[in-house]
Amino acid sequence: MTRIQIPRGTQDIMPGTVELWQYVEARARDLSRRYNYQEIRTPLFESTELFQRGVGETTDIVEKEMYSVSNPRSDDALTLRPEGTAGVVRAYVEHKLYGQPNQPVKVYYLGPMFRHERPQAGRYRQFVQFGVEAIGSSDPAIDAEVIALAMRFYQEMGLTGLSVELNSVGTLEDRARHREHLLAHLNGVRSELCADCQSRIDRNPLRVLDCKNEKCRTLTKDAPSILDYLSDESAAHFEAVKGYLSALNIPYTVNPRLVRGLDYYTLTAFEIKMAEIGAVETLCGGGRYNGLVAELGGEDMPGIGFALSIERLLLALAKQGVQLPVSGGIDCFVAIQTPDAKQEAFILVDELRRAGVSADLDYLDRKMKAQFKQADRLGAAYTAIIGEAELANGTVVLKEMATGEQQEVKRDQVAAVLAERLAARA
Ligand code: ATP
Ligand code: MG
Repeated sequence: MTRIQIPRGTQDIMPGTVELWQYVEARARDLSRRYNYQEIRTPLFESTELFQRGVGETTDIVEKEMYSVSNPRSDDALTLRPEGTAGVVRAYVEHKLYGQPNQPVKVYYLGPMFRHERPQAGRYRQFVQFGVEAIGSSDPAIDAEVIALAMRFYQEMGLTGLSVELNSVGTLEDRARHREHLLAHLNGVRSELCADCQSRIDRNPLRVLDCKNEKCRTLTKDAPSILDYLSDESAAHFEAVKGYLSALNIPYTVNPRLVRGLDYYTLTAFEIKMAEIGAVETLCGGGRYNGLVAELGGEDMPGIGFALSIERLLLALAKQGVQLPVSGGIDCFVAIQTPDAKQEAFILVDELRRAGVSADLDYLDRKMKAQFKQADRLGAAYTAIIGEAELANGTVVLKEMATGEQQEVKRDQVAAVLAERLAARA
């Protein structure tokens, strides 16, 4: 039979590596708790129209990256979620959270997203995003809170040398005023821009500034900046966000070319970058989306959020050589010197497990020496040994693997002694 392989751009997260993921995910949840963001879980697929409307027809996501799913028995047009915000806002509207007394509504999500992209380091077709959304407040302090949360996450993980790039893309009115001047500039260099940019000019000219192509960047170097077209109110919002970031000592640089790929962003836009990550340097992106809730049929409520992927975080940690404090080993391996002790060992393992100690024993009839090897492979902190003598006098020999130190312990005290020793180590 031919072997069936994993789909391109996806990965199996195997035992030995999954511990890293569990650690990082637990830290994301704990951080969210401290900032008072509650978890929300929305479906992995949604109506295709949600993303067309909520992400925007002119974005890379909707133009080329969506995976549509179908079943011949149904004519529902469904798509695997390429990002989290649209689903969260759909749920917010559907559950009428704008009517809740607790405002703003602060939620986070942690789960897989799907995009048809060209796979490369840090870019997958299925990847896990951690994101937060705060809906219902226009306060610039919450913009800074969201940015701070993302930065703290990376800092607590041990990453260094990160920078926040910050911009304001203004309101729809600000952008309309900017647009005609931008178009005048872009039309002047139109024929020299890349094909993508040429088509962007008419549909979403701001995105031309975001092109990665070196030639396009040079040609648009002197294009009018959106920052020069902000209303007084938009400019004040931007200044206030900067003030709150400075108050928390979070360094940022203003990048007037930063425009998020998504159409619904207003005012604050930001990215968190790492200097040396290489081809994909952006770790996190986010911003305000004051038009989105109304666009999806809800009351006109402002919102802000970010999304980051665990894959890119792990890549960044690997590049900086950061070791996360994850231990894969078990607490105790129970070894037997005689087959007569098997049932006793089986009972002891059960006792240990109930006492909160992770424990295992041999299931392959290994000789004593091979059982010790197995204990090593499992990274056991202790091995409990039961032989003829121990069976007869109701004891167990407890060996600490790191030191080789051995101690005879009464059979009925093994669980308590181990639990206490392990607690002392922690
Ligand atoms: P890029 O310009 O790298 O394609 P993007 O603008 O599409 O990024 P967002 O939609 O803002 O990215 O997603 C937020 C974050 O999710 C990114 O900053 C990145 O960390 C991560 N991310 C996006 N696409 C992928 C992917 N295909 N694989 C892994 N992580 C991803
Ligand atoms: Mg992308």
